[in-house]
Amino acid sequence: MGNAFLLENGTVIDGTGGAPFAAPVLVEDDCIAAVGNEALMRVLHLQHARRIDVSGMTVMPGLIDAHCHLSFDDAASNPEIFYLRRNALSALVAAYNAKKLLRAGVTGILDPDSVFENMVDVRDAIEAGITEGPRISCGCYALITGAGGTAGRLINDTGVTGYYKVVQGKDEIVAEVRRQAKVGADWIKVHVSGIVPRYAHLGEQCSWTQEELDLICDLAHDLGVPVMGHCRGTVSSYRAARAGVDLIFHGTGMDERTTELVITRKIPVCPTFTFQVNMVDYGHRLGTDPAFVKLFEREITDSVESMRRLHAAGVPLLAGSESGFSMVPYGHWHFREMEVFMRYYGMSSLEAIHCATGAGAFALKMAGRTGVVAAGMKADIVVVDGDPSRDVRILGEPGRIRQVYVDGQAVDLSPPHERKPLGGWRMPSMGQQLTRDFAIGHAAPAQSAASLERTKIEEL
Ligand SMILES: [Zn+2]
Repeated sequence: MGNAFLLENGTVIDGTGGAPFAAPVLVEDDCIAAVGNEALMRVLHLQHARRIDVSGMTVMPGLIDAHCHLSFDDAASNPEIFYLRRNALSALVAAYNAKKLLRAGVTGILDPDSVFENMVDVRDAIEAGITEGPRISCGCYALITGAGGTAGRLINDTGVTGYYKVVQGKDEIVAEVRRQAKVGADWIKVHVSGIVPRYAHLGEQCSWTQEELDLICDLAHDLGVPVMGHCRGTVSSYRAARAGVDLIFHGTGMDERTTELVITRKIPVCPTFTFQVNMVDYGHRLGTDPAFVKLFEREITDSVESMRRLHAAGVPLLAGSESGFSMVPYGHWHFREMEVFMRYYGMSSLEAIHCATGAGAFALKMAGRTGVVAAGMKADIVVVDGDPSRDVRILGEPGRIRQVYVDGQAVDLSPPHERKPLGGWRMPSMGQQLTRDFAIGHAAPAQSAASLERTKIEEL
């Protein structure tokens, strides 16, 4: 007897950006078999089908988080990720954290890069039903040059550290792209821009030549693997677009020429501003230096114009949270990018929901197969208590996600058991700077120079 159930008396938000409508949804096996009258007709012939009353609830596609690092375990610093983690243990911890995503209504993620590139194994384990989690599409190690990434001097000159691999010159690029394709990368991730410490005030710089980026894209595409680029600053997005990258992360600071090129090539962009907006809205309560809050806000506002133009021209904007860092812990903020898209880009709630569902299917390499509630689509569905088209924030409220289905299978939503600390897993902190004034009771603790530096070099 196959799996079949009818979600009846609910309101459907189908994930295409269209208006909500009342309709029953019939799931058979792993797919949505029919929506509306067709579902009612069809269910009459399915004796074993269960009927599930979802009155007052919204039936919508599960969220697709197009930028989530499931192996980082809510790290508070890069050194933690680079030097303290172990391969097998971090894969097991990722499997634990995957359950938090499901409970937050996330049924699919794109994980760009992972420690020990172990997301390939986590993905395969989930696909094989060995452990439970959202659909995962992933990269292996991020390709980086010695002057790449957001980690500045923490980036080594050669080899593998944490989530990245330094490749210098043509031979190393060729070998690494081919190796990653063989290992099972769904995407090749390139850190196109990075902070050059002495010139940090200029923002991230493009750290690859055009020829190098062309080579990566040509090699990857020959092997059938798409390429995604972390790009801040107009040069990096421009060169990446010219080289033929298939997805741009961040895409901040694009000038006229770059914006036009991205529009012409219709390259999806995943801005991933949740991290920054969390800092802007809550930094003052976390003790973040106001100068940083301003810096982060400027990164968003400086790109509003070009993001609006991309959106108006029909370039898909995908919702990504950068979950995996302490500023965006798993399970808490996957809805937040929709709020950003509404607040800064003037999107309607339904457009924003489309970015986090129907459009996000591209990140899973499943465009047209999931992310939409329609006949023939994979049954990756959430049932929400309330109407997210009135307020997308309810998707983040505890208890609102009432049912989650992946491939038509109901997910156990009971809270995961509490975990205990893992020895040597976190970066110990000495706390804030102990000035003499503070010690004798006159002053508030000063923000330490070291902690400022750490915030500056966070991988975003
Ligand atoms: Zn990232």
